[in-house]
Amino acid sequence: MVLFPTSIIGSYPRPKWLQDKMAEFAAKKISEQEMQSAFDKACIETIREHEEAGVEILSDGEMRRTEMTEYFAERIKGFTAYGPVRVWGNNYYNKPAIISELDYSQSLLVEEFKFIKANTSRGIKVPITGPYTIIDWSFDEHYKDKQEAVMKLAKIENEELKALVNAGASFIQIDEPAFSTRPEEIDFAVEAIKEMVRGVDAKLAIHICYGEYDKIYPALLDFPVDQFTLEFANRSFRVDYLKEHEFTKELGFGCIDVHNKNVESVDQIVAGLKKGLEIVPPEKLFVNPDCGLKMISRDVAKQKLSNMCQAAKKLRKEHGE
Ligand SMILES: [Zn+2]
Repeated sequence: MVLFPTSIIGSYPRPKWLQDKMAEFAAKKISEQEMQSAFDKACIETIREHEEAGVEILSDGEMRRTEMTEYFAERIKGFTAYGPVRVWGNNYYNKPAIISELDYSQSLLVEEFKFIKANTSRGIKVPITGPYTIIDWSFDEHYKDKQEAVMKLAKIENEELKALVNAGASFIQIDEPAFSTRPEEIDFAVEAIKEMVRGVDAKLAIHICYGEYDKIYPALLDFPVDQFTLEFANRSFRVDYLKEHEFTKELGFGCIDVHNKNVESVDQIVAGLKKGLEIVPPEKLFVNPDCGLKMISRDVAKQKLSNMCQAAKKLRKEHGE
């Protein structure tokens, strides 16, 4: 593999025409089949955009996923939804509730993965929301405590990871944004991830955003994964706390801010990535945005990805590649 492989975190802004189609589908104006072909088209467009920007390990921008908790809860037996709750500002999501024993009743991402695989020759990373975050962002009316629910869901997601690997997935990223907001629960979160990845033969990453990493470092390194994808751009590339203990994993270094529409210059990104090289050796540094890009416009997102990929190339040259 080349040094400093470029990748994404997951989500990408949906084009306006797709949002319109989704509204039409919700109003029962178009068929399920029309909706699916619209998703297919949007996924291919997104894959091409990632390729044009130069991304080496890509995804379909999660075009089909309603929201990062909801999408999974809709497909796992035992969840129901009571309706939208407000999360921040004017954003709502359909907060799921557990009302009976959770069960793996259908595959969650295998079809999505197969479609991406059929439409690109680049590397693919599959993002999946982890058990801790799904439970943390749901109501529980069934299990005796949070830990029991998280462990049960981890077992279900273990089946899904194995199904993904059977379908050819070789790089899977577990998204756990809720981890760093509850450092006191990190022990059982580690147990859950152990359960989730048991016997799974693929490169595994965990993505964590929000919160303060220094509160969960170096405990973070106990997670049985190969890589962490973390945000640094919106923290002014602060990495000092990671130097207090050897960073033993690969580092997916968040080098573009996903909440700011100003496009970082190539040189700014290179300077950021060099901070990452203070933490890990070159062969362990992966290049990615801070988080999913869905909060900014598509034009800006593409320009940011493109500059990120040029920055990786520039850094490779400096390292003799
Ligand atoms: Zn994130």
